[in-house]
Amino acid sequence: MDIIVLTPGATEKELKHLVKKLKGRGLQVNISKGTERTIIGVIGDTSKITEDEENGIRAMPGVEDVMRILKPYKLASREFKGEDTTINVRGFLIGGRKIQVIAGPCAVENKTVLMAVAEKVREAGATFIRGGAFKPRTSPYSFQGLGEEGLKYLAEARKKTGLPVVTEIMDPRDMEIISKYADIIQIGTRNMQNFRLLLEVGISSKPVMLKRGLSATIKEWLMAAEYIMSRGNQNVILCERGIRTFETATRNTLDLSAVAVLKKLTHLPVFVDPSHGVGKWDLVAPMAKAAVAAGADGLMIEVHTNPEEALSDGEQSLRPPDFKKLMKELKPIALAVGREI
Ligand code: PEP
Ligand code: MN
Repeated sequence: MDIIVLTPGATEKELKHLVKKLKGRGLQVNISKGTERTIIGVIGDTSKITEDEENGIRAMPGVEDVMRILKPYKLASREFKGEDTTINVRGFLIGGRKIQVIAGPCAVENKTVLMAVAEKVREAGATFIRGGAFKPRTSPYSFQGLGEEGLKYLAEARKKTGLPVVTEIMDPRDMEIISKYADIIQIGTRNMQNFRLLLEVGISSKPVMLKRGLSATIKEWLMAAEYIMSRGNQNVILCERGIRTFETATRNTLDLSAVAVLKKLTHLPVFVDPSHGVGKWDLVAPMAKAAVAAGADGLMIEVHTNPEEALSDGEQSLRPPDFKKLMKELKPIALAVGREI
């Protein structure tokens, strides 16, 4: 049911016109006339009313406000599916009791570094290897990634360590090549509302890690997930990675409250990427711990064997010994919230 609140001065004619419009859409109305104003309860399948139609009603004379009870996202909502979504990726269950950890360099730079990082993070307990082969860099002069060569190294790292591969797509034209190598396709923050890209991964059967847009509200983020799901792919993982605020002490502001909010609103698994959230390696561990305590289903952490030589995001990358230490420290926190890592 949706609720329409009329203005105090709404006329009988305006009310009739509105009721006629709603009935014309196959809906029933429940009119409650108070001393000050009239409130209409709209009964029936109001999910058919689009956001544009809703705005049209809002613009009608005599209407003060329209309150939607049903969320604009449907497939992603808890109302639609009560139980948590779990996604099995090569035997690693995402969204289950065990917290999954995706670790690796920001970009795949060369085979040697990637192999070394993959070995180290696996030893420390990571369950997925990450690395960008197509990098969304702010400057066109920065390292853009190795392309297919990078994807091949990721596949080799998987073969060597058994860790499934998470890597980013930036262009729908790369879908075929990325699908060939990736186990989870990442959509980065800058592309969260690249609707062509969302629809493209939506027709794929590969799980998608959808990172939160730099300035996206939780609703916009869930609508982006809805784009993917509406095309058939229900295996969407959300990843909070920090949003733009006025604060400059950290690279972004990691919105951990989003984890708790999303757990209420959606059945989809929720990950947290503290590396891009804070942008500074020594702040990563505390925020990773807080993310687990807040109920995250997984973490994405940048790790590099030699951060000072990294071609991107060296300042926020953990060295393998620090990553190992963090993984150990996360164990009791996970246990305290009924999970394991
Ligand atoms: C990344 O994961 O390397 C990345 C570019 O992340 P984001 O899209 O969150 O900036
Ligand atoms: Mn990065």
